[in-house]
Amino acid sequence: MDLVSCKSDFPVLERHIDEQKITYLDSAATSLKPRSVIEAMSNYYSQNGVNIHRGKYYLSEEASDSYERVRYSIAQYLGAYGNEIVFTKGTTEALNMVAYGLNLQSDDIVVGFLDSHHAQMLPWRRAADLRLVNLNDEGGIDLDHYYELLKLKPKVVVLTHCSNVTGTVAPIDQMTKAAKEACDAIVVVDAAQSMPHPHLRIDVSKLDVDFVAFSAHKMLGPTGVGCLYGKSARLNELRPLVVGGGMVDWVDMEGSQERKIPHRFEAGTPAIASTLGFGAALNYLKQFGEEASLAHTEELTEAIIKGALARDYIQLLGTKSAKNRCAIGSLRIKGCEDLSDIARSLSDSYGIMCRTGHMCAQPIVDQQMGGEVLRISAYIYNTTEEIDRFYQSLDELVYFLG
Ligand code: PLP
Repeated sequence: MDLVSCKSDFPVLERHIDEQKITYLDSAATSLKPRSVIEAMSNYYSQNGVNIHRGKYYLSEEASDSYERVRYSIAQYLGAYGNEIVFTKGTTEALNMVAYGLNLQSDDIVVGFLDSHHAQMLPWRRAADLRLVNLNDEGGIDLDHYYELLKLKPKVVVLTHCSNVTGTVAPIDQMTKAAKEACDAIVVVDAAQSMPHPHLRIDVSKLDVDFVAFSAHKMLGPTGVGCLYGKSARLNELRPLVVGGGMVDWVDMEGSQERKIPHRFEAGTPAIASTLGFGAALNYLKQFGEEASLAHTEELTEAIIKGALARDYIQLLGTKSAKNRCAIGSLRIKGCEDLSDIARSLSDSYGIMCRTGHMCAQPIVDQQMGGEVLRISAYIYNTTEEIDRFYQSLDELVYFLG
């Protein structure tokens, strides 16, 4: 399937705002949803709409069956077993579940990345002694610093597969191997920004990671659902963050018996419609081969880097090579402190939607850029022409706003 011709599958791209077509360049925040995902959710509500894993009647069993099929298709995609896939609200909840559930002590060392998302940094900082790997001079991961930190024998290593600020894709194979050899650390991967890309799919039957967290909404699926993969031995040791109905076999006046994994981690009524949408998103994504995904990502990334480097009023965060990078560009506009004016004008005058702020990664953005950034991020439905158009519009705005 041709990546760019898929544009017509995304109904929101048919919208015009003030007669302007939409140019969506904020997929790192959330991706757009194809028609098949929307239909899967609305189909559940119009044809079924009942709870799962509770009723012994046709509709309930039908819903439970569809829900569990999504679990198995995710497991298959990752090379995992079905009981190793836990549905969560998203990456944030999945990472909190692991940081809390491992019962770490405050002096246990955890190694993370300086450019990690707050969803990753804050749970580990609360649970343990978090040490951060620096970026190197090119804006990628400083591997020498990582190896130094491994000498401290961390209990846990948390790897951001792809940074939502720099777009850098970390060499997680090499880093996982090093963490296992150095101290048999528990390896957790934040795959929120990498799972949307078929060429960055993690195969846990080949890569010895213990946990992987990701969100459906960044990979064409709905909000409100995500996934925690955990090796079954690790999940069996993990203390559930949330307790309640659905995660117990029995409860009496004195105690209770927790269900087996993965249900032990899924207390309460889940986001059923969103999970079915997640399944449809994965089916849609599977149409794109790994090669096409890589080629398209590199093309978009090159356009982002080239456009930034061609303008001396722009500073681009991260490496200046399209290899091992995703199509995410965090930009500082020299001499412009208030980027929200620019973002609003891009939206109102040109129909271009992009993001400003600290990107939920304030330590790195403050350290490297001295303040907020304007971020563009492109995905399967974007073209290099749209990125060129963004830069041309920015030229005009910067000229007019002085
Ligand atoms: N990790 C990374 C790298 C992200 O980019 C994000 C979201 O932007 C998250 C974690 C948190 O994801 P969610 O908000 O879906 O829980």
